[in-house]
Amino acid sequence: LYNQVQDLKGNIRVYCRVRPFLPGQSNLSTVGHIDDGSITILTPPKYGKEGHKSFTFNKVFGPFATQEEVFSDTQPLIRSVLDGYNVCIFAYGQTGAGKTYTMSGPKVLTEQSFGVNYRALNDLFHISKERKDTFCYEISVQMIEIYNEQVRDLLASDGPHKRLDIRNSSQTGFAVPDANSVPVTSTTEVIELMDIGQKNRAVSATSMNDRSSRSHSCLTIHVQGRELASGVVVRGCMHLVDLAGSERVNKSEVKGDRLKEAQHINKSLAALGDVISALAQKSSHIPYRNSKLTQLLQDSLGGQAKTLMFVHISPEVDAVSETLSTLKFAERVAMV
Ligand code: ADP
Ligand code: MG
Repeated sequence: LYNQVQDLKGNIRVYCRVRPFLPGQSNLSTVGHIDDGSITILTPPKYGKEGHKSFTFNKVFGPFATQEEVFSDTQPLIRSVLDGYNVCIFAYGQTGAGKTYTMSGPKVLTEQSFGVNYRALNDLFHISKERKDTFCYEISVQMIEIYNEQVRDLLASDGPHKRLDIRNSSQTGFAVPDANSVPVTSTTEVIELMDIGQKNRAVSATSMNDRSSRSHSCLTIHVQGRELASGVVVRGCMHLVDLAGSERVNKSEVKGDRLKEAQHINKSLAALGDVISALAQKSSHIPYRNSKLTQLLQDSLGGQAKTLMFVHISPEVDAVSETLSTLKFAERVAMV
């Protein structure tokens, strides 16, 4: 049933989420109008060519949308993993626009502020219990990051030092077999793991946000279910990806390591955009091989797999040019 519902809506969906103003920010907003599926951005003359531009998505969440509301639209997708489907959920946007908030939540977590990650696993635990008379499910998680086109294990007990390879096998498809895979049965365990993963993530201070991340982080949930009566096994997999910040950097301002990081990020986000738009256009060649990110996600992008991209924007007028470029990227991947 979940899949029937999803199929009607298509396999690639794009949701836009607007972050609220943060305490202490001036409240001159660039977001003109929001309804369920569209958003209008206003550019005041001081910030470029004056005007307004509207963008259409599958859904737009305004600044007052709760974590619960955002998740409830995602829930059917997550449930399809238990039926053996592969799912990818991305958080895209400039640093500070709310990607980590959507995927994980704020720094200080409460049950109300849990992000998609926790809610997804909670839901999987919950449904697998409901089905315990007919199915036996095993759920395990991996957490990796892609930094400068290198894959590292965020759950490695000795820290994320070793470079890992993405491999393809008939059993598991494209995966990172050498990354620690941890069986989980409760939300408490998941919270502990994510804590370890967050601490291991490569972060460094920028002028915009000291939690800014120059790496893509990917929580992968593997689900294996055995139907008790028939012994038939179904496998599903979900990647929850908190992408690196999409902001363009000024080449005259950044040098050395920062410039290299920025170039890797630009390249891999462009590769992701190319893959999704090739899929949306049902192109015969899908350019998965152009980045580690798209290689890793190859089995979960396209085919029967379901993809959801949360595109995040900041409401501040200072961010208007990044906001427009974010929404243009999103419009391209949403165009079917
Ligand atoms: P990103 O991961 O895109 O760099 P963050 O998720 O870290 O951005 O968000 C930046 C700041 O804004 C954080 O302090 C975060 O808690 C806050 N924030 C982001 N989105 C929301 C939201 N929807 N509601 C309340 N606070 C938010
Ligand atoms: Mg973040």
